[in-house]
Amino acid sequence: MAAAREIRLKSRPNGRPVADNFELASVELGAPGAGEAQVKNLWMTVDPYMRGRMNDVKSYVPPFQLGKAMEGGAVGEVVASNDPALKPGDLVQSNFGWREAFNAPASAVQKLDPQGLPAQAFLGAAGMPGLTAYVGLLRVAGLKDGDVVFVSGAAGAVGSMVCQIAKAKGHTVIGSAGGAQKVAFLRSIGVDHAIDYKAERDLNAALAAAAPDGIDVYFDNVGGEHLEAALNAARPFGRFALCGAISMYNATELPPGPPNLVQMVGKQLRMEGFIVSSHWNMMGDFHRDLAAWVKAGKVTWKETVFEGIERAPDAFMGLFTGENLGKMLVKLA
Ligand code: NDP
Repeated sequence: MAAAREIRLKSRPNGRPVADNFELASVELGAPGAGEAQVKNLWMTVDPYMRGRMNDVKSYVPPFQLGKAMEGGAVGEVVASNDPALKPGDLVQSNFGWREAFNAPASAVQKLDPQGLPAQAFLGAAGMPGLTAYVGLLRVAGLKDGDVVFVSGAAGAVGSMVCQIAKAKGHTVIGSAGGAQKVAFLRSIGVDHAIDYKAERDLNAALAAAAPDGIDVYFDNVGGEHLEAALNAARPFGRFALCGAISMYNATELPPGPPNLVQMVGKQLRMEGFIVSSHWNMMGDFHRDLAAWVKAGKVTWKETVFEGIERAPDAFMGLFTGENLGKMLVKLA
């Protein structure tokens, strides 16, 4: 392979990312060096957490560097190898997304056994977002019999898995997402009450109508008004898994915290944030359960696909306008 294109961070966004924050560049790839493989990426993922990496601040992952290719999950095919661990044709998963191809030490990529699933599923339902749903609902929120579950960002990669895992376990599920198409999708996957938060003038009233006796578990992907409404709707001893707060990722000034946080005291609520990478040890359990749920027709997933590396910034920016139903992906080959 001669030239491979990649997306670099040109400037740091102020507020919502715009096209000018990204630049498309081309690099010449030589033959892989000793111990290296050359990989042609087939798929890459864009994820909301990448917005945080575009800021020059200390976090649980280092910031992207200006003028350098961005990073993120990808699946690809080995096209050349200088290491006995990999051979041409092997499928691999890596963190070298945002580029068409790359050379890397064989130890920096993981061989992928697709287990009968499409390879890109390992960037979504069967990968990091799916595990996030599983861990957040079962381990962090401690889902137990009879819980009524409320999920925000319910039609996205993580949220749609949370809804289906809770349904597979027999729970009443309320999902919130933006727009009629997403609400219809939520109903199609068995969500009991789907709220179109963009059409509702009063989220508190909509949630109270959907859950007249309250909620026990809140899986928070969104923060802000959704978190406030969930606090109002919570029953005593409710558990909140704080997974993300996408409504605030582009805020230039952070809004004040939920004004009703004090309800945590009277209702004796537990709220716990988590990062999926601290829970990789649940991947085996997750894949075992996922295989059974898929076989039983209880879990399915949607993908929204942009084609070509040059569309990767559009796919990423689309996360913040809700252009994706299910997992947002970029097909590279
Ligand atoms: P999604 O597939 O859910 O895509 C993002 C969605 O967020 C959009 O489709 C949009 O849906 C919704 N959204 C965007 N802006 C807003 C807003 N202002 N208010 C409400 N909803 C908004 O992304 P993921 O499933 O990958 O991620 C979901 C959440 O989980 C994110 O907060 C992410 O950061 C977090 N996350 C956390 C992890 C962890 O380890 N803690 C790991 C992975 C993800 P709509 O049209 O419905 O508005």
